Amino acid sequence: RRKWNRVVGVLKELEESCETTVGRLRQVVDAMAVEMHAGLASEGGSKLKMLLTFVDNLPSGSEKGIFYALDLGGTNFRVLRVELGGQRSDLDPDVEQQPIPEQLMTGRSEDLFDFIASSLYQFVEKGNDSVQSLVTKELGFTFSFPVKQTSVSSGVLIKWTKAFAIKDMVGKEVAGALQQALTRKGLNMRVAVLQVNDTVGTIALGHYHDEDTVAAVIIGTGTNACYWERTDAIIKCQGLLTTSGSMVVNMEWGHFWSSHLPRTSYDIELDAESPNPNDQGFEKMISGMYLGDIVRRVILRMSEESDIFGPVSSRLYMPFALRTPAMAAMHEDDSPELMEVARILKDVLDIPDIPLKARKLVVKICDVVTRRAARLAAAGIVGILKKIGRDGSGGITGGRSRSDVKMRRTAVAVEGSLYTQYTMFREYLHEALHEILGEDIARHVVINVTEDGSGIGAALLAASHSSSG
Ligand code: ADP
Repeated sequence: RRKWNRVVGVLKELEESCETTVGRLRQVVDAMAVEMHAGLASEGGSKLKMLLTFVDNLPSGSEKGIFYALDLGGTNFRVLRVELGGQRSDLDPDVEQQPIPEQLMTGRSEDLFDFIASSLYQFVEKGNDSVQSLVTKELGFTFSFPVKQTSVSSGVLIKWTKAFAIKDMVGKEVAGALQQALTRKGLNMRVAVLQVNDTVGTIALGHYHDEDTVAAVIIGTGTNACYWERTDAIIKCQGLLTTSGSMVVNMEWGHFWSSHLPRTSYDIELDAESPNPNDQGFEKMISGMYLGDIVRRVILRMSEESDIFGPVSSRLYMPFALRTPAMAAMHEDDSPELMEVARILKDVLDIPDIPLKARKLVVKICDVVTRRAARLAAAGIVGILKKIGRDGSGGITGGRSRSDVKMRRTAVAVEGSLYTQYTMFREYLHEALHEILGEDIARHVVINVTEDGSGIGAALLAASHSSSG
């Protein structure tokens, strides 16, 4: 009568199309490694852009001195200071955050940078650091806009995004504009690093605390990764010379696509209705921006096919009505009667009073969607490890078993609320890492959580790229 079997059918179909067997995940791993290769071989050679960052050394923990960072990427900007004692220790940065006056976001670039330079000047002064010091202070500048990076400390603005629209800045050198403002202000400070992607800060912070760090992954509203690559593997840029022989490469892995990705009709609809169809395919299956909306679409389908959710709630037609944190809260509801699920369905989706059986079904949907996301993220990570020969597959010679392979300890820095706040996501990710790599290899791979790589990481990169060495 309630067409329960129809709903079970929808769930079964969802489970099948979200299937991530180890075999399937290994295909994704291989595809990721292949695409990385293609993206490094030629410009436009892959959906993976594999952007050069020119960051050719990572903080080691032995840095000494006071270093600054400036983080500009939205309506607020932040200034940070870290004091490094030459030995790895807990970093306790001073941070100040300020809103950017609205008229400065659409005015002249000089006015914006003068304002920023003044704020920085006051911050330095307040921190008992001498503003007129003869020793040049080193600054990491995090600038989260589309930039064509030209060196570790320079890059050209391609276009503004978010609330910014300063015409005279487009096509101009970003770090240079800041440097000039600092000089006008009489602040003896050098822009040592221009950091245009927050994953780079994350790998820097990760490496500061753990020298075996080879990659960084962010899984929050969006998702991205970067890693430490040998310059001779960056074929599209011949003759690239760095002291270390390596460089951080920003993958922009949200764009990754492979026919091996398990895709559902809900993904196809979500993509078609998005402002950027056929783009960010990997991100749309993994990140916090989208998971809740996939779940909403499944509930909507079920609600249309049966009456177990009552009359179809109009909220179910609202894109992004169900946010990922609410979805996670339902998924992790451990009360026997699933009261949290009931509350969220009622408050958020306007679906009151459904039977326990139906609430259990909602939890199951959340589980399927999150499990797929976490396992795909794990496959992406192993793809990176495979590309750099840290997945244990290299060096196996005839007759030796996998367990004989000498596997170096390998660390990956991870940041973002999906990983840090969503326990089930984290556990599924770990489980998949172990399944794909096998226990013998997996025990050499550690995941380290970092916090605020975007800010602190930039200050640490200023330290490791400082002119005084
Ligand atoms: P950023 O927006 O810079 O990526 P975060 O890493 O904090 O910042 O990620 C925020 C995103 O993480 C939110 O958009 C949301 O989708 C998701 N999120 C936040 N808290 C939770 C939670 N408790 N459970 C699941 N997802 C969460």
